[in-house]
Amino acid sequence: MNMTHEVTNQPRPLVDHDLYAGNRPLRDALAFHLPGADEAPRHALGQLLGSAAMQGHARLANVHPPRLRTHDRFGHRIDEVEFHPSYHALMAAAVGAGLHGTPWARGPGAHVERAAAFMLFTELEPSILCPVSMSYAVTPALRANAALAADWFPKLASTAYDPRLVSFADKPGVTMGMGMTEKQGGSDVRANTTRAEFAEATPWGDCYRLTGHKWFFSAPMCDAFLVLAQAAGGLSCFFLPRVLPDGSRNALQIQRLKDKLGNHANASSEVEFHGALAWRVGDEGRGVAQILEMGTLTRLDCALGTAGLMRQALSLALNHCAQRHAFGKLLLAQPLMKNVLADLAIESEAATALALRLARAVDRQDDPHEAALRRVLTPVAKFWICKRGAAFAQEAMECLGGNGYVEEHGEGTMARIYREMPLNSIWEGAGNIMALDLLRALRGGGRAGTVVDALRAELDTARGAHPACDSFVDALPQRIDELADEPSARRLAQHLALALQAVLLHAHATPAVFEAFCRARLGGAEGLVFGTLPAGIDFDHLIDRALPVQGQA
Ligand SMILES: Cc1cc2nc3c(=O)[nH]c(=O)nc-3n(C[C@H](O)[C@H](O)[C@H](O)COP(=O)(O)OP(=O)(O)OC[C@H]3O[C@@H](n4cnc5c(N)ncnc54)[C@H](O)[C@@H]3O)c2cc1C
Repeated sequence: MNMTHEVTNQPRPLVDHDLYAGNRPLRDALAFHLPGADEAPRHALGQLLGSAAMQGHARLANVHPPRLRTHDRFGHRIDEVEFHPSYHALMAAAVGAGLHGTPWARGPGAHVERAAAFMLFTELEPSILCPVSMSYAVTPALRANAALAADWFPKLASTAYDPRLVSFADKPGVTMGMGMTEKQGGSDVRANTTRAEFAEATPWGDCYRLTGHKWFFSAPMCDAFLVLAQAAGGLSCFFLPRVLPDGSRNALQIQRLKDKLGNHANASSEVEFHGALAWRVGDEGRGVAQILEMGTLTRLDCALGTAGLMRQALSLALNHCAQRHAFGKLLLAQPLMKNVLADLAIESEAATALALRLARAVDRQDDPHEAALRRVLTPVAKFWICKRGAAFAQEAMECLGGNGYVEEHGEGTMARIYREMPLNSIWEGAGNIMALDLLRALRGGGRAGTVVDALRAELDTARGAHPACDSFVDALPQRIDELADEPSARRLAQHLALALQAVLLHAHATPAVFEAFCRARLGGAEGLVFGTLPAGIDFDHLIDRALPVQGQA
């Protein structure tokens, strides 16, 4: 106690707990998708990511953001970004957990395991996952150049993290980024102006010289990038290493780092290529198709990442409300606050379910149903989960009252979540682009029938489980006809997302969660803000299930 007052009624921070053990919805979803799988590694990761030591790294990596050094003190260009040691500690943990290229070297189930781990990691620190996610996405695309893949694939799959800017041959593990967006166009990459001129044939195939720029080029300290440039045969995909095989630096200059709303631990840069050497991946003119292949994987990570952030925000809100008293009661016991928390819990579980279902589709690409479903799930999940993220973060922040809004030297995790949330919605295809991609998937030439059939088969798995769910699903064919034009594409994406989430909650949430979702999201009683669940919903069950530490209530 000091002279003026005693500090009371302030909650203990949520620290040193097993993030996986505390995430019942994720555990139930994994038991459904990977029955009988060993849970010990997930608990070990959950313990590590929930530890005070790792939380300390997350804070430090954000309050000491990356710094660009364009030149050394003698005036030579070096184009290096310096990071705080905590950034490297986080990267080592993410790569060590195999969140980048590793699943491509493993067997069935690896992508679902990785998806769960990625969501858990997001709860610790999302921005360092940018290069991790890009490395995951580029690994399969490299197969279009067998010689490059033979050299780089094993290092992308290795769990060793080595941040040095040296030749790949001297590194046990590597990371990669992606460069598409230019000043004049991001969504519409066909507007790219970077030029690629053929230089020579090499053991890695045709080598080109690239001249031009990229307006967004995240994680520029990665070992290599897949970039788009205009070759004689049209827009093409190229592999551009930072350090050339002979050990010299490639002609890539980092102009400056972006001053971003959030995502502070990650460096996002603007770059120029001054005749940089790059090797073609796939045929000339196939650049858009190549990049789209990567895009579908980074879009998966946007959905997973946002679901992870929602779970973190919910955990923080519950942790606060389980300890904070107002008007003579715990906040967790106040009837209206229960409605808010229960509504957030439903949303978080539905996001986790949808994101993980997409990961399962990625995992089983040799199954035609899963391949067709993935085509439609990707834009639906990325659109819906990411769109819900920012509103979710605001509501969870409000549960903490004023404390939620305070940064306090980077301790304010809720503020960090709030700043991060809009990013997944914008990058790798903003909301409209996703909704338009859904229309393409449903119309898509010969595959359209397959995609709609796969969707219908998936939705029929909950047939008869709830009248609201049945009528929502029954409305779908008509909705597709009515809404399959551009101005209505978001409405269609929303309808599909809600229907899919209902079916998934029926499959692996509790009956009470499924019932609440059907009534609150499909039954015509939807509110426009969180905390508007209709009467008769079992708030206590929803809250208990969501508590990050059992027995907290
Ligand atoms: C932090 C951060 C990191 C990034 N890192 C990278 C990176 O490493 N590599 C990289 O290549 N890019 C990166 N990006 C860029 C990002 O992918 C693009 O900003 C995004 O794809 C949108 O492109 P744009 O900014 O050119 O916007 P635009 O393409 O101009 O789009 C603006 C808006 O118009 C909408 N729109 C576009 N076309 C249509 C249409 N036909 N109908 C209706 N609406 C439409 C979009 O949905 C969007 O809302 C990053 C962005 C951020 C914020």
